[in-house]
Amino acid sequence: MGQFKHQVIAQQEVKRIVASVGLDGMILELEGLITAGMIATKDLGFAGSLVSKHTNYKQLSEKQIYWVGRMIERALSGDEPNPVVEEGLTGMFKLFEATNDKLQWPKIRLQTDSGLPIVLSIAGSRAKAPGTINITDGGKYGENIWYGRISKEGVWESPAIQAKGFEAIRALIHAFNEDPEVIAATQGKVTGHCCFCSKELTSEESLGVGYGKTCAHNFGVPWGKTNTS
Ligand SMILES: [Zn+2]
Repeated sequence: MGQFKHQVIAQQEVKRIVASVGLDGMILELEGLITAGMIATKDLGFAGSLVSKHTNYKQLSEKQIYWVGRMIERALSGDEPNPVVEEGLTGMFKLFEATNDKLQWPKIRLQTDSGLPIVLSIAGSRAKAPGTINITDGGKYGENIWYGRISKEGVWESPAIQAKGFEAIRALIHAFNEDPEVIAATQGKVTGHCCFCSKELTSEESLGVGYGKTCAHNFGVPWGKTNTS
């Protein structure tokens, strides 16, 4: 499909969004596209500023509203494939699946040995690739690094393979996928925080396991297998 046809479909899609959900819905859409890493890096700052301006002041000018639509259109029509980092990363999906009907926006927060933060989240139903795992550095809209997405088939595509520390991030994602429970527990013991809810681990039991009891239930990981050392 040619670029022109992509653009026509994107324009129709934007018209549909405007007609059905209005400006609030468009802002939500744009926010979703930012989170999903669908906005080009050069546009991220601008897109983020439009979202926060509307969210905080509800005072977008006509020109700015035009740009909200334009950004959505660009994101929906652009379909540049990103390089594949790794395949076979299906292991961590079971944790997110376990949170269905329990958590609305489940996140998993990890960090590399050198302390680079990694946040995993599931793309919502409004995103371009619903149900895929998005990987970011956990930064704010417009300021975060998008390390790509993992499809339900376990294929990780990333536009950021040149990013600082990417090899350590790749190793961590790989290890987490192989053995989520062990990595989740290890992370909690190293950071002192639960990787699922980011709360500080305070009880001796939670510190022993490496994550909180409620989160263990929510994410379907075992609770109570403490390491006595
Ligand atoms: Zn927790």
